[in-house]
Amino acid sequence: MKFTFVTLFQNIVEGYFQDSILKRAIEKDILHIEYINPRDFSSSKHGKVDDTAVGGGAGMVMNPQPLYDALNDLKIKNRDVHLIFLTPVAKSFRQNDAKRLAKKSHIAFVSGRYEGIDERVIEKYADEVFSIGDYILTGGELASLVICDAISRNVDGVLGNSDSLTIESFETNLLEAPSFSKPENYENNGVPSEYLKGNHSKIRSLKLALSECKTKFFRPEQLLKHRTRKSYEK
Ligand code: SAM
Repeated sequence: MKFTFVTLFQNIVEGYFQDSILKRAIEKDILHIEYINPRDFSSSKHGKVDDTAVGGGAGMVMNPQPLYDALNDLKIKNRDVHLIFLTPVAKSFRQNDAKRLAKKSHIAFVSGRYEGIDERVIEKYADEVFSIGDYILTGGELASLVICDAISRNVDGVLGNSDSLTIESFETNLLEAPSFSKPENYENNGVPSEYLKGNHSKIRSLKLALSECKTKFFRPEQLLKHRTRKSYEK
C-alpha cells in the first residue's frame, strides 16, 4: 500500500517511519511512503505558498495554486489515489475508517498549515476529510500520521500477529480487557489469579467481564452499543 504525504514539512513526518513496526513494513515492501512539497509547485519566484485571507481575518491561508498543481500532478500520475484532507472541522476519524481505508491501494494525506487551506482546494480535490479530535493543532502532519498508523495496522502483513487486531478495543464496542506482563507479582501487586491457572475458557469469561467493567467505567456509551447489538443478534 502506498501513502503520499502532501506537506510543507516532510521532516516532521519522516522520522515516524524510521523505527519499529512501520519501518519493518517498509523494508518488507508492504508499505511505500512518498512526499510531495506544495512549495515545489509554487509559480512564485520565491516559492510562496500562503497569503493573507481575502475578506480579512487573522493569519495566513495556504494559496490554491501550489496545491492545485501538486494535486493535479499526483492524480495524473496515480489514477487510483484516494485524497484525504486533515481539518479540525470534519468528523472524527474512527477505527471503522481505519479498517475500511486499509483496503485502498494508495492514500494521500494533505496537511494544512497556518490558518488552513483555501476552501476551493478542499472542495475540488478531497475524497474525504477527517479531524482527529476537537482541538487545534499547528498543522495536519501529526493528524495524518495518526491516521496513517491506524490504517497501516490493518494492512495485511504489517503486524507480526494479526490476532492482535481482532481482540483490540473498539472491535466489538468493548474496550480490551486489562493486560499484564511478567513478572506475575510485581512490588506485591499480583495479576488476577485466574489468568495463571491455564483454564482458557475461564480466562475468556473473566476477560469478557473485565472488558465490560472497563468499558462501563471509561466509555459507558460504548457498553450500551455493545448490549444493544448483542440483544439484536439474539
Ligand atoms: N483556522 C483553522 C480553524 O480554526 O479551523 C485551524 C487551522 S490549523 C492551525 C492548521 C492545520 O492543522 C489545518 O489546516 C489542518 O490541516 C490541521 N489540523 C489542526 N487541527 C486538526 C485536527 N484536530 N484534526 C486534523 N487536522 C488538524
